[in-house]
Amino acid sequence: MRILVQKFGGTSLANNDRREQVVKKIMEAVKDGYAPVVVISAIGRTGDPYATDTLINLVQSITADAPKREMDLLLSCGEVISGVILTSTLKKRGFEAVLLTGGQAGIITNESYGDARITRVEPKNILEHLHKSQIVVVTGFQGISEKGQITTLGRGGSDTTAAALGVALNAEAIDIYTDVEGIMTADPRIVEDVRILDVVTYNEICHLAHQGAKVIHPRAVEIAMQKNIPIWIKSPFSDAPGTLVTSLQGDMKAGTDITGDRLITGIAHTANITQIQVSTHGMDAQLQANKQIFKGMALSDISVDFISVQQDCVFYTVPDGLAQKALDILINMGFQPKAVPGCAKVSVVGAGIAGVPGVMANIVEALSDAGVGILQSADSHTTIWVLVKKEHMVPAVQALHKKFQLGI
Ligand code: ADP
Ligand code: MG
Repeated sequence: MRILVQKFGGTSLANNDRREQVVKKIMEAVKDGYAPVVVISAIGRTGDPYATDTLINLVQSITADAPKREMDLLLSCGEVISGVILTSTLKKRGFEAVLLTGGQAGIITNESYGDARITRVEPKNILEHLHKSQIVVVTGFQGISEKGQITTLGRGGSDTTAAALGVALNAEAIDIYTDVEGIMTADPRIVEDVRILDVVTYNEICHLAHQGAKVIHPRAVEIAMQKNIPIWIKSPFSDAPGTLVTSLQGDMKAGTDITGDRLITGIAHTANITQIQVSTHGMDAQLQANKQIFKGMALSDISVDFISVQQDCVFYTVPDGLAQKALDILINMGFQPKAVPGCAKVSVVGAGIAGVPGVMANIVEALSDAGVGILQSADSHTTIWVLVKKEHMVPAVQALHKKFQLGI
């Protein structure tokens, strides 16, 4: 059996016309001889009646501190609603289809409500339905714990469901249908002349996704990469082939002209970051102080970024939402931290960056010319990050995109 996982995001399912396109893509897969496993997200975006954010707002209007277990029960309904609608549409058109919840599809997770991890997949139930020639629709973004609790997987969780099923079912490919025609050199919402990338490696898109390119969740890429299952990112409203995500080795075998010569893959951005500055100047045990700061953050589950430890001060960033918590911890420890809210991280990602001289010089030149001040920078062998004020984020992405000639 040739299994194809097809995942459809919320905007693709938002109304009847769009669902017609989705049905068309499923039918094409059947015609091509595939047994489709269709993973769906909740319908629409914030404000739409059954979108995930709308469900969150329902409870947050009552309390900001809703019980996590019950929140997951509520959130899991968004995908159930959208799944029932799609399955009914398929049946009305005369196709044999069945809807399975995450739990019924064998997605087993830990019990971290709101951000659960898939621990294993038991695809027996899905396979039984596929053997009966049924189209299996699975609610994305959710699973069930060993003790039978319903859990959700966090933002982008439907991508993760699709990847986990792709691996467990040894699918021929995982098609991620979204509202763009592929992975682009930057977010098309902020750069006009973006280019669609034909092929990217798992590593390239993983780095882009970790730095904020939300076109696919990085966890999904990591899962698919384990078994080398190809991922296609494409739009249900277009016949464009989309972007193939694969390993470099596979591409070379296929003779595709790929990423070998590519210096920069794309520019990603993340807003809503606070920089924290802690002076350790004059402290008796400076090394102890450094240790204490990061241990304090780790013990409170605050993930830190952009760390820069200097002789008498420490800088790092946290998401805006965790800034007050971080400050309280530091003040309790006897520090006098300073917070710089309203920052954004802009990342230049490219597997070709390593050891190439002049990349940083180009970044600094592009940003200075655009009047963007760099608050902090850091680099690895694949990424150069700059921290800028939030109002400089869009001009920074645009300037870097232009400087590295990534556009069409
Ligand atoms: P879905 O609901 O289908 O999962 P998402 O909103 O999660 O869709 O992801 C698609 C969005 O990702 C696009 O609308 C686009 O604005 C954004 N995006 C950010 N960076 C990129 C990029 N490099 N390439 C393509 N899309 C990107
Ligand atoms: Mg998404």
